[in-house]
Amino acid sequence: MPTLVKQLRGIGGCTQPVRLDGHRVEHAVDARTGEIGRVLRRLDSASLPAGNLLVPCKNRRATRCPACAETYRRDTFHLITAGLRGGKGTPDTVTRHPKVFATFTAPGFGAVHNRPTDRRGAVRTCRCGLLHDADDDSLGTPLDPTTYDYEGAVLWARVLGPILDSRAHTFVFGEQLDVRPIRSADFDGTSELTERAVASYIAKYATKGAEATTGALDRPLKFLAELALLGLSDHARRMVRTAWKLGAIKELGHLRLRAWAHMLGFRGHFSTKTRRYSTTLGALRNARAEWRRAQASPDVVGETETTLVLSHWVFAGMGLSAAEAWLATTLAPAPGTEGEPTHD
Ligand SMILES: [Zn+2]
Ligand SMILES: [Zn+2]
Repeated sequence: MPTLVKQLRGIGGCTQPVRLDGHRVEHAVDARTGEIGRVLRRLDSASLPAGNLLVPCKNRRATRCPACAETYRRDTFHLITAGLRGGKGTPDTVTRHPKVFATFTAPGFGAVHNRPTDRRGAVRTCRCGLLHDADDDSLGTPLDPTTYDYEGAVLWARVLGPILDSRAHTFVFGEQLDVRPIRSADFDGTSELTERAVASYIAKYATKGAEATTGALDRPLKFLAELALLGLSDHARRMVRTAWKLGAIKELGHLRLRAWAHMLGFRGHFSTKTRRYSTTLGALRNARAEWRRAQASPDVVGETETTLVLSHWVFAGMGLSAAEAWLATTLAPAPGTEGEPTHD
């Protein structure tokens, strides 16, 4: 059992790992002659405790795999931070760049429950007459669902100008625009907003898909009837129904709204960045994989040698067996896990 524990620990708590059959062989190569020499390391799936190589699923959604979503959140935090403060290949001269955190808001599709504030920042009552808590589920949902423009809200997910039912829709951002300078070592000004707060905020939302609003709905629907089985709010249900209905319209076929109904029509990537901003998620993942490999077996390559890696893997399934899953739940998180505290 101890070796199985070690293998399960290697996937960092992932509950839906990819199982692979195959092998990986590392040969030493003479750097001068190019001659392939002795075997440095050999990994055969059949000899592993679980009978397969287990690879984390890397899903970023907390509802699918909490452990992999947590890894994604931490990587995103470090990526944003390196772009603001330098590090991980980004020069620390970036701290001298002026930085702002800009929030663009979707246009209004009808009045919604909200938490308006007065000049001094005190929260006032909503138009419905209630004082909503910050985590009230009704926030952002329509005051009057019968007049709310659900078609516009779903289609806004894609910038385009179709005419539907002889009614023109235009797609622009809303009027509300919030631009706040980010405080840093060289540019503190009067800003309250720290680099850390920005990185935490973005990283937190990276692991929440539209399912933050739609609850259990974190994968595509096959039939609209499935909706009845899920405990969605009325608002989310109407959004999904509208996406499904619009998905049947021939002129909108290219939007594949039914395939993306579970995302309320939104089909874009969660995030995008310019090439020169910070490191990449791929580079962070590679560094982690390299580190794990080196921990498992320290480098044995000689000074005049390089390595050649030959590997062949085939998909053998997903997930853990009942016994593996039970064992995995008894494991504490791996020690030395890098990352910022989770409070935010
Ligand atoms: Zn996972
Ligand atoms: Zn309200």
